[in-house]
Amino acid sequence: MQCPHCESLDNKVVDSRLSQEGAVIRRRRECLKCERRFTTYERVEEMSPMVIKKDGRREHLDRQKILAGLKKACEKRPISVDTLDAVATRIEKKLQENGETEISSRAIGEAVMAELYRLDQVAYVRFASVYREFKDLNQFMSELKGLLDRDPSNADDRAARPLTVKEGGSSTKASA
Ligand SMILES: [Zn+2]
Repeated sequence: MQCPHCESLDNKVVDSRLSQEGAVIRRRRECLKCERRFTTYERVEEMSPMVIKKDGRREHLDRQKILAGLKKACEKRPISVDTLDAVATRIEKKLQENGETEISSRAIGEAVMAELYRLDQVAYVRFASVYREFKDLNQFMSELKGLLDRDPSNADDRAARPLTVKEGGSSTKASA
């Protein structure tokens, strides 16, 4: 790190502390040439992938949008905003840790469904019915029945199991 005063590259760290809940390390450095002090910050490189939308446009991964989707699905359900906030963070982290530079909006939908499945099945069906665009009420009912038939003790194992319903086409949006 170059000294901002004399441009020397030789310096020593005199103090180092975490800030912003561990996301940033702040270092006080002392230049070995001019002996003046300066501060540097170190943080993890922003790794958020770009989201490719259905129409091909790209936008930044937006945690607020994920949270808004969760809130909508969980309307009038006994789930605290804090819980949804934690879920949104978990989804965002998972998508970042995949290390992809671009992801489809579909991947976000799948991640949200996997979390909702574990969290609240009414919210899950509500989200899935809109997201999956069930073609008719029968499809929706069979998914609902599938949920009711499943053994809750196995819920975690099945959370990521994909539904058989295909995306797209005309839809009759059923509300749960
Ligand atoms: Zn210096």
